[in-house]
Amino acid sequence: MSLKEEAEKLKTEIANAGKEIVALQELQKTHNISLENVYAKCSHQWEIKYTPEHQKGYVSPGDAPGTMGIDWRGPFSVPSKTIDRWTRECKCCGKIETTKKVRVKETETYEPDFEKPPLK
Ligand SMILES: [Zn+2]
Repeated sequence: MSLKEEAEKLKTEIANAGKEIVALQELQKTHNISLENVYAKCSHQWEIKYTPEHQKGYVSPGDAPGTMGIDWRGPFSVPSKTIDRWTRECKCCGKIETTKKVRVKETETYEPDFEKPPLK
């Protein structure tokens, strides 16, 4: 086989692989839609767990030596931190969702008011 023939053969195979990728992506989309339909049928019984995300601290090298400018930064350390995150899994269908968002629960509290001055 000449080099030209070998190259042509590989080009054809690359093109065919590209078509397979497109077909598989379509299949993946179809399966994703089916999966969402399964999840939509469920009334979900969530089990919520606190699953914080840990980010390791590191040292940033800063600007390269010899870099000019008034805002030059040398090496500095970025401390490790923990980010709040929650994961919930449905006991019925196995759907898993994670979130880092929180909302403040509004709690309305009240007590009987007998219109007397408070006891001292
Ligand atoms: Zn469910």
